[in-house]
Amino acid sequence: MVKTVRSIIRQSNNIVFLTGLGSVVECGGRDLWDSDIFYSIEKNYKMCPEQLLSAGEYSSRKERFYEFYKKEVLSYLPKPDESYEIIKALEDEGKLQSVVSFNIFGLEKLAGIESVVEVAGSVYNNYCPKCKKTFDVDYLLTSRSIPVCDVCKKALRPNIRLLGERVDNDLYTEAAIECYKADTIIVLGADLASTKVQYVTGHYKGCNLILFANEEKYGDRFADYAMYGNIKDNLKEVVK
Ligand SMILES: [Zn+2]
Repeated sequence: MVKTVRSIIRQSNNIVFLTGLGSVVECGGRDLWDSDIFYSIEKNYKMCPEQLLSAGEYSSRKERFYEFYKKEVLSYLPKPDESYEIIKALEDEGKLQSVVSFNIFGLEKLAGIESVVEVAGSVYNNYCPKCKKTFDVDYLLTSRSIPVCDVCKKALRPNIRLLGERVDNDLYTEAAIECYKADTIIVLGADLASTKVQYVTGHYKGCNLILFANEEKYGDRFADYAMYGNIKDNLKEVVK
């Protein structure tokens, strides 16, 4: 398997990476749906992460939304690991088509990768809905309660897709086009059974869909090759 995958990657010139939660966790990020974390959040907030990160919560209970968002999401920002250095090196070699990021943590841009489609948005992009001025994460973290625009005093909006909101069709179309143009797709810790991932990969015409995941999942049958264990270590093993 290692040999086959290594030779596929060597021969590929238009690789598309899909990055998901499995990779975020390896980079030190938090999986809010991990049973221990999920339980402690439910206990502390009397609500589950889905409800706390929903569009309804943002529009009607901003104070609680931001309390949760700052404390449980922005306080645990992951940093790109060697997986992202590998992707960046492939981009420098001209072998990367692009990265479709299904995470909200901007790991690709932090690693200096230029060709990225952030379909779920990024915690690093925050804006004023009125004047469109942008604000960084520190501005949000240092604001006392609800972060507001320093010009028009409007509550800021993190540019991430909240649960219950419609997906951004333009971004998904862009991601699907990238997959259509790809000769190889490499999935890092994303669930291939998810409808969003399926929408994007459904436009792929090749037969080199390679999955790197910590553990087996039902959706893995959509992959042509699957490698299990530490994502970063396995990726290092085949990109040599
Ligand atoms: Zn403003």
